[in-house]
Amino acid sequence: MIRAIYPGSFDPVTLGHLDIIRRAAGVVDELVVGVLINRSKRPLFTIEERVEMLRECTAPLANVRVASFDGLTVEFARSQDARIIVRGLRAVTDFEVEMQIAQTNRIVDPNIETMFLTTGLQYAYLSSTIVKEMASYGADVSKFVTPEVAARIRQKFAAIAPANG
Ligand code: ADP
Repeated sequence: MIRAIYPGSFDPVTLGHLDIIRRAAGVVDELVVGVLINRSKRPLFTIEERVEMLRECTAPLANVRVASFDGLTVEFARSQDARIIVRGLRAVTDFEVEMQIAQTNRIVDPNIETMFLTTGLQYAYLSSTIVKEMASYGADVSKFVTPEVAARIRQKFAAIAPANG
């Protein structure tokens, strides 16, 4: 039984994340998507909303579960009995920081391996930050997120700035 975790903030989940989730779920027996609660950056969506959106998007994938976590990724992996941490690599800019995280995690627990999946080319420049930025100017983000997530983003920005539409 090979179980992996896929940790991140998923604020909100994008089609790039979903591509990694589908592909990772295809090579492991069980994938637990871990949504990080505590972050220095203030998230747009609450932890409950981020988990809910991920559950909606991953509902058709039988071997994918979604959970929230706080603290060290390695500890979350251990709590799930997982020996693999999945991360997505986009452009080279991800590389340095991801190497640092992976090396540090391996020092913390040498039994847990980080597995990198390269992003689908069409998602190479996609990030939750870009999606939020575009949506904040009223741009259509339906090419970057699922229709359910796009609707939630619209609601969120309508609630934040009702006067600006
Ligand atoms: P974090 O803040 O921990 O980087 P994110 O939610 O931004 O959390 O990303 C979670 C993981 O998904 C990271 O490994 C990140 O590199 C990867 N990722 C983010 N966007 C994409 C994308 N468009 N394609 C592939 N992987 C991605």
